[in-house]
Amino acid sequence: MGKKIKVFVSTKQTQGQRQNDFSFVPEGELLTFSVSGPCGNEKADDECGCARSLVGINCFKGTTTAKVVERVLTQNQLARLFKESADKAGWGSVGYTLKAGHEFARAILSVAAKFSTGMVVEYRNQTFSERKSLVTSGVGPQSLAA
Ligand SMILES: [Zn+2]
Repeated sequence: MGKKIKVFVSTKQTQGQRQNDFSFVPEGELLTFSVSGPCGNEKADDECGCARSLVGINCFKGTTTAKVVERVLTQNQLARLFKESADKAGWGSVGYTLKAGHEFARAILSVAAKFSTGMVVEYRNQTFSERKSLVTSGVGPQSLAA
């Protein structure tokens, strides 16, 4: 029996809440940090999106919305998945070692653990925060109000 750990996967939930949202990662794909990090001194709302997104480990594309889920994985397995992904994307040849995979895995696990399962989060300017669903209760004509 494996132990469950919290990780981030891609979700379309809350997409569109911000005008510059995007999600090119299939639903449910494991997410990690961009290997290259922000391409310059990018800020979250700058055009290129690197400071407001996480990256899918299979498609190598970005998403501005992530969901906290539990997966039966160990930190070692996650580190290996990240390393394999980086190799496929070509980063292995420029120094993305298994040690880097562990560093990414540790960072993901320590922050994902702070959130509740099922929460939708965003990663902007190196900060994770929860995205709330839009509240629509109490909507209706005034005459219905008691
Ligand atoms: Zn950029």
